[in-house]
Amino acid sequence: MARVYLSPPDPGPEDRELLLDAFDSNWLAPLGPHVDAFERELARRVGLEHGAALSSGTAALHLGLLLVGVQPGDDVLVPTLTFVATANAVRYVGAHPVLVDVDPTTWCLDVGTVADELDRRARGGRLPAAVVSVDLYGGGPDYADLATVCAEFEVPLIEDAAEALGSSFGGRPAGSFGHCAVFSFNGNKIITTSGGGMLVSSSADLVERARFLASQAREPVVHYEHIELGYNYRLSNLLAALGRGQLGRLDRRVARRRAIFERYRSALEPLGGIEMAPVGPGVESNRWLTCLLIDPGAFGAGPEDVRRALEAMDIESRPTWKPLHLQALYADAPVLGGGVAERVFERGLCLPSGSSLTDADQDRVVGALTALRGGRP
Ligand SMILES: *Cc1c(COP(=O)(O)O)cnc(C)c1O
Repeated sequence: MARVYLSPPDPGPEDRELLLDAFDSNWLAPLGPHVDAFERELARRVGLEHGAALSSGTAALHLGLLLVGVQPGDDVLVPTLTFVATANAVRYVGAHPVLVDVDPTTWCLDVGTVADELDRRARGGRLPAAVVSVDLYGGGPDYADLATVCAEFEVPLIEDAAEALGSSFGGRPAGSFGHCAVFSFNGNKIITTSGGGMLVSSSADLVERARFLASQAREPVVHYEHIELGYNYRLSNLLAALGRGQLGRLDRRVARRRAIFERYRSALEPLGGIEMAPVGPGVESNRWLTCLLIDPGAFGAGPEDVRRALEAMDIESRPTWKPLHLQALYADAPVLGGGVAERVFERGLCLPSGSSLTDADQDRVVGALTALRGGRP
């Protein structure tokens, strides 16, 4: 039996066609018609007009921070429960991440903590240069409140929607909150260009600046003229073609991930000792990964026991993100709270959730958990 992966790429015949079209048209140069179309189509998909296709989600975060004006020495609020890329981008611009705990009902930024911190800092005259919120596993924070709080203190908000393409919060697409938002098309995300990302914004100027900085800040003259420091961050035309095909079938992919989540929920919740990842009111998560909390006392086995049992069956599962304040890399970063993120890490597990997962393979995952549960008093 073939190994079952957590979230493998799931390309279709249309993607192959588009990729070959890009190849045959000899648009192997980085820029080309598929890049332009992918930018337009993805931005439109999240209700915006402008997007810059980039080489990774991390590159998009880096440029987003530069473009909202974060300077060396500034502080930036970041949730502690996220992939390391979110905070690394803050360090790339020479700024300092301040790690904020998450809300137990959303697993995303605790908006009350953000509000208290901005208030405290406003009185001390040292506001952070930006807040980065992360749409974790496809869920989201309370954006109505978070956007209001950031606007009140005039602190720019960047939405790290790397995991949330196809989600919506209060009826608005993930990626449409904040001054700009970031998507990732890494191999394990909802759609993949094998590597890639996008910066989207309602501001044409911001996105134009992103394209400029991503092209080595080359001045628009015929010779190579440079005034500013730039980066080589553009997505290639070939890879954009790959993304367009998958974007066209995004609804089907998201529907499949949601169905997988619901199937896990109905099979696993009755076992007891299992809590599915929560989402806040109005959140329609894409259910990028099905995550759950396992209470070892009530379930009779902990997340690591379950992971090992699945691994023995050649099935990949993974702990939820390890909080950044527990990482050696960020051990000296200030942290506000952290207990909620720690509890998620102690008890959390992500189950195979790819849109190509078969019912038979999902049944094997469920069977493994049921057997573990049954084997205990
Ligand atoms: C995947 C991911 C990123 C980084 O995207 P890459 O395309 O891999 O650079 C950033 N933030 C979060 C929350 C992610 O999950």
